[in-house]
Amino acid sequence: PAVVIAVDGPSGSGKSSVSRAVAARLGLAYLDTGAMYRAATVWCTRRGTDLSDVAAVAADVASMPLEMGVDPEGPGVVLDGQDVAEEIRTTAVSATVSKVATNLEVRAELKRRQREAIDAERTGGFSGGRGVLAEGRDITTVVAPDADVRILLTASEEARLRRRALDVHGAADASAVEATRDQVLRRDRDDSTVSQFEVAADGVVTVDSSDLDLEQTVDAVLAVVAK
Ligand code: C5P
Repeated sequence: PAVVIAVDGPSGSGKSSVSRAVAARLGLAYLDTGAMYRAATVWCTRRGTDLSDVAAVAADVASMPLEMGVDPEGPGVVLDGQDVAEEIRTTAVSATVSKVATNLEVRAELKRRQREAIDAERTGGFSGGRGVLAEGRDITTVVAPDADVRILLTASEEARLRRRALDVHGAADASAVEATRDQVLRRDRDDSTVSQFEVAADGVVTVDSSDLDLEQTVDAVLAVVAK
């Protein structure tokens, strides 16, 4: 039978790398829901929509032509026929994505699309019916509260800032960490107004990656899945 694994966590928790590795190891599809919010931000920005215009943003996202790849080895993000996998990671998008993600109509629309993608993997799809690991901020609580395995991946603020600095600047010295601090903390604060990912919900298992490297974190998650 298909397995559904839900993973939530703040930025810098190592969520994406860990989730992709776990999905690849188990032969599951991988759904990066953060990439969908990022693509929505690119879409609205391209159309010149004011991101604080709640109704206009919701209308844009309702008709967004987005195709999400679910191969954990290289999940493509195709927006209006164009590969935007790199564009969605720019600091401009990171700085504005919370505006789109705190729009409740946007959340309802993307939740619907995410559930559809998860259901497709339960019966066939990329995984051939083996299942899916979906990753984000509200997967354990809202999108797939009925998942077989629900994990909250956490890390200390220090570890999260260090990882973000490495991702964005390729270095984790004091000045690189300082340069990411405000953006990371502000985004988590804004995101946490609409999603619960700072404290595990009932029945959600916490994995703390502060003192673990990627491989050790993957093993810790696999151990939870095996239980
Ligand atoms: O995980 P990532 O940093 O790519 O997520 C980008 C943004 O997408 C988050 O900062 C948050 O605003 C939004 N998001 C969300 N709900 C999810 C996944 C991501 O609101 N399930």
